[in-house]
Amino acid sequence: MKKIIQDLSAAELKELVISLGEKPFRAAQLYKGLMLGKKISEINVNAGLKEKLLSVFEDEPLSVIKTLQSSDGTEKYLFRLADGNIIEGVLMKYKYGNTQCVSTQVGCRMGCKFCASTLGGLVRNLTSGEILSQVLKVNAMHGGGKQRAVTNIVLMGSGEPLDNYENVLGFLRNVTAEGGINVSARNISLSTCGIVPKIYSLADEAPPVNLTISLHHPRDEGRKRTMPVAGKYSIAEILKACDYYFSKTGRRYIFEYCTGAHASELIALLRGRPCHVNLIRLNEVSERKLAPAAEEEARAFLKALTEGGLSATLRRRTGADIGGACGQLRASYIKEEL
Ligand code: SAH
Repeated sequence: MKKIIQDLSAAELKELVISLGEKPFRAAQLYKGLMLGKKISEINVNAGLKEKLLSVFEDEPLSVIKTLQSSDGTEKYLFRLADGNIIEGVLMKYKYGNTQCVSTQVGCRMGCKFCASTLGGLVRNLTSGEILSQVLKVNAMHGGGKQRAVTNIVLMGSGEPLDNYENVLGFLRNVTAEGGINVSARNISLSTCGIVPKIYSLADEAPPVNLTISLHHPRDEGRKRTMPVAGKYSIAEILKACDYYFSKTGRRYIFEYCTGAHASELIALLRGRPCHVNLIRLNEVSERKLAPAAEEEARAFLKALTEGGLSATLRRRTGADIGGACGQLRASYIKEEL
């Protein structure tokens, strides 16, 4: 595979263009085109420069090979990467804007029992430009330009973002860069299963995005049953890292929790913390033999948490009819192909 030009920041692109013997304004033209989601070959720069670039870089890091439309407006995409690997993404439409869910790895090695992304293990990390290109592409598909269609981003697609830290950091810097697509850090949420040392790095180095932790159980032993990473980092260590994140960024952190059990323990664990609980109902993953909680049950659980003093909301279930949960579409696509 050739290199990915979207890995470069505007400054790095400028350096490159100058090193190729071209005028600096060419870099600005190029950057503008790339941020509009264009292929190198489609951008309006001189043929000589294009040729030089195309000998080193992929013309486009990914292409959309399938789009699924849910009855609730959610769109799901399958992207093919330049090396043939497949990743997926989702665009959810809300009143306040459109939230895109991006993938950070092809597959995942975390092994969470409820998740489809990890079924085949980790294939490879995505580069920062491959993550960014998912956003550029979807934005372009919905008009692009001044009419920015992607207003919010969640790093909740396939992969564990903090298991691909350097590339994710590069992505966060480039996607929030002022001259680029410029999505505000406060509109970006990074979800992690809890890789503690990298939470500290993120607090120190990254734009101040919203930190989300997949908790799913209030005790380590219970968490270990579905999340192998819990054997490595305890909930106490995660909470300490979250406090550090809060002290550095001033941003309230969020816990993802599957509805149903241990309300009082969860309340005791989190009450008084600057956090919010996002209740998820599991999307069915046929390979995992899991059924989602019933609506009434989920509402009763939410009520118990809020009465217990937690800030909590029940996440709207979007795109369940099109395989909305992590890795589902890719898993079924790969199965069909085999
Ligand atoms: N690896 C990261 C980000 C990807 S998962 C993490 O663990 O946070 C994003 C969210 O979707 C997590 O909270 C995860 O627990 C949840 N999730 C995974 N499988 C799911 C399923 N089948 N139904 C609903 N949510 C799921």
